[in-house]
Amino acid sequence: MTAEINTNSQGKGALRRWLGLGQATDAADDSGGEASATSRLSLEDEAQRELLEQITLFLLEYRLRVTPANLLAAHAAFSGTNTRLARKVAVRRADGEPVTQQWLDEVTEADETDNKAEVERLLAKLQSGVESFTSTTQKAASATGEYQQALTKQVAEIRHADSADAVLSSFADIAKAMLERTAKMEEDMRRAEREASTLRKSLAKAQRDAAVDHLTGLPNRRAFEVTLDHHYREAQAAIEPLTIAFCDIDHFKRVNDTHGHETGDRVIQAVGQALARIGNANCHVARHGGEEFVMLFRNVTRKDALEQLDAVRQQMSERRFVNRQTDEPIGSITFSGGIADVFAYSTPSEALEAADKALYRAKQEGRNQILLAED
Ligand code: GH3
Ligand code: MG
Ligand code: MG
Repeated sequence: MTAEINTNSQGKGALRRWLGLGQATDAADDSGGEASATSRLSLEDEAQRELLEQITLFLLEYRLRVTPANLLAAHAAFSGTNTRLARKVAVRRADGEPVTQQWLDEVTEADETDNKAEVERLLAKLQSGVESFTSTTQKAASATGEYQQALTKQVAEIRHADSADAVLSSFADIAKAMLERTAKMEEDMRRAEREASTLRKSLAKAQRDAAVDHLTGLPNRRAFEVTLDHHYREAQAAIEPLTIAFCDIDHFKRVNDTHGHETGDRVIQAVGQALARIGNANCHVARHGGEEFVMLFRNVTRKDALEQLDAVRQQMSERRFVNRQTDEPIGSITFSGGIADVFAYSTPSEALEAADKALYRAKQEGRNQILLAED
């Protein structure tokens, strides 16, 4: 669509070089080159090269754009980290159906829903693991009590025993039973620990995946809420300013209506990328949904946030977009925004609402502008 985010097969070589695999693969591509280069690669390098090749060929074959979301999806499908997605892609290709952007977005979106279910399933499993661990521990405690009772009884009986042999053999029986039971419980506990560790890792990965918006690769609304909550408490304790911004692409429906949904998606990606460029440790950018973005500026006053965001708005409005498929001009893409000082309100959600109201005013007053909330 736009010249600056266009890609072609040269991108393949650049990506490889960036990953430090350029020379070997370039040589392999160009049959007159160093034939031994590939053989020097370690197995791990080779696996990396193959994965990269698969991702690259996949994107090129279906003319999918090199976007964070597409790279994430292709990586998930080919690295084996997402078997559900890998299966869907394999079936689609086996059926001879093209992998279009729309299809990929639909399946990755469906996958995000599956992912939530996966997090819940893992949580439930972890919960039941903890319960069985607790019950093993309880059993261990009660077994210790039983042995103690048996031993106390035995000690009491020594005085009345007819022979030392009988006492010894009885002690030996108790000790043997105790050792066997302890060994089994130890094994149960070790297994429970191993399972819990695997589950914790899967859960952490599923939670990370569930926090990313697949179209833009930015954190999603849910992840932003967690970030907001975290910085709200920290900034409040540190007595630092905290500023929130709400942005929305202007007349976005027209882009969809005139150029199609796929082009609309690329426009969302381009705006997301432009906003993400000012993102850093103090500026968190997320896709709130649809063509809306939210930003949180930590230790930045609303005036400074306005300055930063307005610079992005201005740059964006000066760019001219072209529909890559039809070469038709899309023209300029602009967005409007509203900014609020979080601590001027009693809760973070009231501050977000105030930023949204300022955004609404920006729209009413002609769009392509960022306004401060009237707080
Ligand atoms: P305004 O300047 O007042 O914001 O006008 P607008 O046309 O941008 O606003 P409106 O809310 O009417 O339209 C937003 C459109 O965004 C409607 C919806 O179909 C579209 N949309 C929402 N999510 C996506 C998406 O993920 N991809 C694409 N292509 N379109 C989306
Ligand atoms: Mg909107
Ligand atoms: Mg809009």
